[in-house]
Amino acid sequence: ALTIGIVGLPNVGKSTLFNALTENDALAANYPFATIEPNVGVVPLPDPRLAVLAELFGSERILPATVSFVDIAGIVKGASEGEGLGNKFLANIREADAICQVTRAFADPDVVHVAGAVDPGDDISTIHTELVLADMQTLERAVPRLEKEVKGRKTDAAVLTAAKAAQAVLDSGRTLHSATAADGVEVEHLKELGLLTTKPFIYVFNVDEAVLADEARRAELAAIVAPAQAVFLDAKLESELVELDAEEAAELLASVGQSESGLDQLARVGFDTLGLQTYLTAGPKETRAWTIHRGWTAPQAAGVIHTDFQRGFIKAEVVSFDDLVEAGSMAEAKARGKVRIEGKDYVMADGDVVEFRFNV
Ligand code: GDP
Repeated sequence: ALTIGIVGLPNVGKSTLFNALTENDALAANYPFATIEPNVGVVPLPDPRLAVLAELFGSERILPATVSFVDIAGIVKGASEGEGLGNKFLANIREADAICQVTRAFADPDVVHVAGAVDPGDDISTIHTELVLADMQTLERAVPRLEKEVKGRKTDAAVLTAAKAAQAVLDSGRTLHSATAADGVEVEHLKELGLLTTKPFIYVFNVDEAVLADEARRAELAAIVAPAQAVFLDAKLESELVELDAEEAAELLASVGQSESGLDQLARVGFDTLGLQTYLTAGPKETRAWTIHRGWTAPQAAGVIHTDFQRGFIKAEVVSFDDLVEAGSMAEAKARGKVRIEGKDYVMADGDVVEFRFNV
């Protein structure tokens, strides 16, 4: 499964957030056999459509899609020099498909800030610099090797060209993910190098109640990281919310003027940043959201349920969630001609409710 790695300076609230992510046991009830590793937090993707479908089909249970977060480690200024970022850190971060940077934007004189003052913009550039430097070092080592390999015809010249283009982007202080077509960085040629800044970034601003209520301040912070997405949450509040039942949690959220928890927002933004979407299946046993990549076809989507479904794919019966709910039942949706028969080239749309037909 795709994972999002959590990084940040020390003392910004990573552990507090991560504890909230792992203690969120809404999932344990639904996935009793899932083995969850200690440094992985699995959060359900909030989807109000699931409860509606479960009601319609009389499903016994609901299985939401999930997003996994991995606790990577703190990064300190200068980490990429000297001993470097550390092998464990690098191994963990290389495995992550996106990077979630937690930044402190709460004011609490009792919590020491490593740089002496709370300055989210400064913290973000510190982390960027460390990651950019780490990639520069990787490329400095790789380019001479690639040059030899290209001469010896062991490696395609395009790989070397991409590596040099990447160096130019990093030299200008930018991440590789922010490179444009004009920069000529063909990331698919650079996969084996394990570069860090090719991954998409998400930013979590760990804020206090005052900032949660201050739209202008949030816009200011979001502007620092745009076009990447920002989530504003109070890690301490989140760790309290996961201890409460749904009703109490909603009350506590309302008391600080929020309608959705920060973890829910983080799951949504994470899912989106990873380029994922869901389709839905429903029946008396369960209503379930299945995770696919945006742009996947019906047979690829079927393969997420079972590889046999993909191999033996015949067709998909597809109805959009809205049409199904409006009709009130699958039979009525069929009667109204809202259930489409789609073939192997059909590209899945968000909110498709699907039944696959296949040969075994
Ligand atoms: P880490 O080093 O990034 O993992 O940071 P921790 O999660 O250990 O948090 C550092 C300190 O900040 C702890 O004393 C936390 O209780 C405190 N802290 C974390 N999040 C918040 C928050 O949202 N508000 C306040 N006031 N304190 C927080």
